[in-house]
Amino acid sequence: MDETLSLGRIAGVRVGLNWSVLVIVALVTVALAHSEFPSAHPGHSALLYWALALLAAIVFLASLLAHELAHAVVARRNGVQVDGITLWMLGGAARLHSEAPTPGAELRIAAVGPLTSLLAGGVFAGIAAGLHALHASGLVVEAVVWLSAINVMLAVFNALPAAPLDGGRLLRAYLWHRTGDRLRATRGASAAGRALGWFMVLTGFAAVWFGHNLSGLWPALIGWFLIGAATTEARQAELRSVLGSVPVHRVMTPNPVTVPDTATLADFLAEGPFGPYRHSAFPVLTADGSVAGLLTVRRVEATPAQARASTTVREVMRPLAEIITAAPQEPMLDLLPRLEAALYAARWSSTKGASSASSPSPTSAVPCPGRAGPPRRSRTPGSSGTRSMESSRALSRGTLNQTGRVSGLVSTDDPDRPVEQAEYFVPGP
Ligand SMILES: [Zn+2]
Repeated sequence: MDETLSLGRIAGVRVGLNWSVLVIVALVTVALAHSEFPSAHPGHSALLYWALALLAAIVFLASLLAHELAHAVVARRNGVQVDGITLWMLGGAARLHSEAPTPGAELRIAAVGPLTSLLAGGVFAGIAAGLHALHASGLVVEAVVWLSAINVMLAVFNALPAAPLDGGRLLRAYLWHRTGDRLRATRGASAAGRALGWFMVLTGFAAVWFGHNLSGLWPALIGWFLIGAATTEARQAELRSVLGSVPVHRVMTPNPVTVPDTATLADFLAEGPFGPYRHSAFPVLTADGSVAGLLTVRRVEATPAQARASTTVREVMRPLAEIITAAPQEPMLDLLPRLEAALYAARWSSTKGASSASSPSPTSAVPCPGRAGPPRRSRTPGSSGTRSMESSRALSRGTLNQTGRVSGLVSTDDPDRPVEQAEYFVPGP
């Protein structure tokens, strides 16, 4: 889930919001201000209902964040690196960099989330009782009671034994502990996740269809998300077990065909690279042999034919900062999560119609990994303009390897995946 707005770091964990979190805030605020509060405590001003409802929605978000932070903190204590937390439409997501090392660690990381929500529910219940004893406004007590109830509901729902919910992780930890086979455990938890997802979709639609109750759409949406996430989790687990510790260099194409950044698209096309070479993306090199970006067939095609003689490769390439990179010795297992994140971001933005060649790159939100790759930012477009005279260095195979900057190109061959996201660099060490 992309981060739209960063909230900085809390307890050392990067926290952000996705724009879709506004959907929960709006739904909760409207439900409380429009029906819940006025029907329970009529006679107050509309402004008061709305202000209190908005405040309750924000405190609810904060309690979601506490749930995710608990996962993140316990994950770190158990040796699992945390990339960050993002709150979005269906709640929060703590992105863990790797899997829990043992069933015990998995259990602790998963269990602390629902326990935190349960604790929050208890604290709000206590506050509500205290306010009631102090004869506080019934409306305020109502809001605090709602916060208590929603946190208990959150704890119970998340504890359902179905992936990707926390209860699904608990189930997986249990199966893993019992069988010693993490893959089998993942399959079990994923099957439970799909079953729960379908149950929610069917009952949600049944409520809409037979009960004429539109609120059934919400569980149906969550069910739909569960089916997708559980399926993805199982698929990734299968992939992981197949890939094992295969290093990136075993699956990359070594010595890929490269393109000089100052060549024009006409030069590039004159070499006829598409026929003899099976790649649809080509690393772009600067004059000193360092990598500047990736030229994709899609971007060349999107440039009008009459402009190709005057457009340089640098102008249309995807800059290095937008491309996923990896080191040859790095295990494929480490590369996969980054690739999945990039593909997800790409699908997400292409559904918003942002994938045309002239618009920003679909994966612009995916950071280039810093640890094994080249510098995050290559030179900005235009800074090499003075070099355009020495343009037509021919396409060359092997140039990259000689300079030691790029040793290969990895590509996936899933036809559903857009070319631009399907290929990425493997710079040398
Ligand atoms: Zn959780």
